[in-house]
Amino acid sequence: MSEKLRVGIVGATGMVGQRFVSLLADHPWFQVVTVAASERSAGKSYGEAVGGRWSMTHPVPAAIGRLVVKNASRIEEIAGGVDFIFCAVDMPKEETRALEDGYAKAETPVVSNNSAHRATPDVPMVLPEINPEHLAVIEKQRKRLGTSRGFITVKPNCSIQSYVPALHPLREFGIEKVFVSTYQAISGAGKTFKDWPEMTDNVIPFIGGEEEKSEKEPLKIWGSIKGNGIVNAKGPVISTQCIRVPVTDGHLAAVFVSFARKPSKERIIERWKGCEGEPQRLGLPSAPKPFLTYFTEEDRPQTRLDREAGGGMAITIGRLREDRLLDYRFVCLSHNTIRGAAGGAVLTAELLKAQGYITPK
Ligand code: NAP
Repeated sequence: MSEKLRVGIVGATGMVGQRFVSLLADHPWFQVVTVAASERSAGKSYGEAVGGRWSMTHPVPAAIGRLVVKNASRIEEIAGGVDFIFCAVDMPKEETRALEDGYAKAETPVVSNNSAHRATPDVPMVLPEINPEHLAVIEKQRKRLGTSRGFITVKPNCSIQSYVPALHPLREFGIEKVFVSTYQAISGAGKTFKDWPEMTDNVIPFIGGEEEKSEKEPLKIWGSIKGNGIVNAKGPVISTQCIRVPVTDGHLAAVFVSFARKPSKERIIERWKGCEGEPQRLGLPSAPKPFLTYFTEEDRPQTRLDREAGGGMAITIGRLREDRLLDYRFVCLSHNTIRGAAGGAVLTAELLKAQGYITPK
């Protein structure tokens, strides 16, 4: 590719924003030309604005560190200089929705990490390996917004990004019931141990709003386009408990599942091993190969050992065994700020580019 697409990161100073900065520093298709955040950071260099909050293991990429942070609410000014934006802001839902609508109406595609638009029927919520066909609803959204190129896509919540990929290739067996307990890292709350000392040597059995998202969002992902939007799948029934645990990155899930047609253990593992999607077939730059990895070792996946699998984009699974209440149980893991947030959004943008939804302005 000769010319890279120009991208802006809105919410660039936050936990997810920093991950975007680090993933996009050398991206083959996208170049970060704008960073934006609240008025608190606006006017400072990016390096100065993140300051002691920088929580990646490598230093701030030099070229991005020198960019002057813009005020995210200056939509026209920012939209004028970019081909699309990534958005990850910590703002009230209504304000986030208005901000994202504003960018889309300024003919700037938005690839969002925020939850504000996840339930909007004509906004696709995409896990690129699983429901790439939902991007077709963008044409209906553009009609509603009155835009020719602007639109919004969202990513699902980080909590579901280990177990939905693991369950997806098993849907042919008729998944009926799913119980999930998640063990979620503190970076999922935009925190480190330094700014959340209460998490040291502690477990907190509550994450506001997380269980509702974890139970509902898979049904939109497994839904289908009907009329002007996506209609949620009717099942399976999903019940979750979401728990905050003292690890930096990586959300682990313990899953119990029942099927209408119970498969053998070997068939389940076979389905996991052979699972790939559009990103792998198209050879997108951030697509992990393999997408899913099954461990035969009894003590894997482990959060610290396995969260970086496939550059943090792969899902790891282990401990598949028969269950005494439902049919099977297993554990699975994904990196919450890479696959579960910025990396997943970058992969979505690569798919959008490959399918012609994001083009140079
Ligand atoms: P965070 O670390 O608290 O960062 C929040 C960002 O939003 C900062 O850049 C902040 O800028 C900016 N911001 C706050 N108020 C603003 C305003 N009024 N106008 C413009 N920008 C504003 O949060 P985070 O963990 O990165 O999460 C960001 C979003 O991603 C949230 O919607 C979250 O639910 C979602 N998400 C997070 C994860 C995760 O694993 N962390 C995973 C999936 C989705 P300043 O620095 O200037 O204050």
